[in-house]
Amino acid sequence: MAGARCRGAAEGTGPGTGTAVGVAVCGLGAAAWLSPALRRFAAVLMALAGPLLFRLGYRLYARTRLGFLFHQRQVKKARERFPHGHSVTQPLVFRGMKIVPIPVLDNNYSYLVIDTGSRRAAVVDPSDPVAVQAAIEEEGVTLEAILCTHKHWDHSGGNAELRQRHGACKVYGSALDAVPELTNPLGDKEKVTVGCLTFEALATPGHTVGHTAFVLDAGPFGGPPCLFSGDLLFLAGCGRLFEGSPETMLASLDAAVSLGEDTLLWPGHEYALECLSFASLLELDNPALEQKLLWATKQRWEKRSTCPSTLGEEQSYNPFLRTHRRELQEALGLRRGSGEPPDAFRARVLKELRRRKDLYKPTWGAPPRHLGTPPSPPGLCH
Ligand SMILES: [Zn+2]
Repeated sequence: MAGARCRGAAEGTGPGTGTAVGVAVCGLGAAAWLSPALRRFAAVLMALAGPLLFRLGYRLYARTRLGFLFHQRQVKKARERFPHGHSVTQPLVFRGMKIVPIPVLDNNYSYLVIDTGSRRAAVVDPSDPVAVQAAIEEEGVTLEAILCTHKHWDHSGGNAELRQRHGACKVYGSALDAVPELTNPLGDKEKVTVGCLTFEALATPGHTVGHTAFVLDAGPFGGPPCLFSGDLLFLAGCGRLFEGSPETMLASLDAAVSLGEDTLLWPGHEYALECLSFASLLELDNPALEQKLLWATKQRWEKRSTCPSTLGEEQSYNPFLRTHRRELQEALGLRRGSGEPPDAFRARVLKELRRRKDLYKPTWGAPPRHLGTPPSPPGLCH
């Protein structure tokens, strides 16, 4: 049944195409009186219009004030729906450093990272300034830096308000990405220091053209590196390719993996259950995936956060980090062409994976009776 779902999803041709096809079918139903030639023409028009409308909607969201107004509405609705946040999170404490995940919107995470010696702090992707400000006050820290992975409002929507409140606070991110209120543009491998904390920018284009992940060196505090991955990488998933090719995204994912297996992954969204469910349709015989799905199902039905995982774990079940694995290639029905460079083939595998994931519609199974209501609905960015 799982394979059939994926094969069924393989009918579209790009983001939003599933909707376009659906609309086209409805349109044809209403226009059954048209001649066959006109019906074919109408079908072609509808199939072309779907992706165009998707691109137009994306541009309005990402590049105009309309997008910000839409974001503010989403924030308001999420605050009503989840007055205490969408998930129960757990701070991670090392000697001299603390990471506080802040659940915002329907499924985003911001992270407050604190040098506990000096009480100076940085925040990653503050989309809801009210929730972030509450965490700042609760922790009694001074906000010195906003680290913004990319321009999408669900990652940057709180930049302006927090900058207004905290005059000395700088905004770091890529100059390529129209990050709101950007004060300090960063290139690949450039560093940001906040108290005793050192972050390194990791250019990871693909989701957006200037997407930047941040790597915290927790070595001085006795911890492993911490990757704040924004919409590059999620537990068992990766970000949609809004502004990059599969080749670009593959290089960005490879850069993340090179950080080492013990690296802690702090993603921009709580998408674990949906991503693991999708992965399990492709790899039917992967014990690591099976176990993580069982664990995540329990976590999510108890509204608990699934962060962080490690990059080592991710490589054992995240299909987007397993494009080199034969079992996954076979599940997708792909074979390396003669003379095809290995990375070109992996990019082709990633492209097919991404296409299927874009069309995937999760249907949660019945929860174990004692676990209550199902988790949050899926979001757009993965
Ligand atoms: Zn995004």
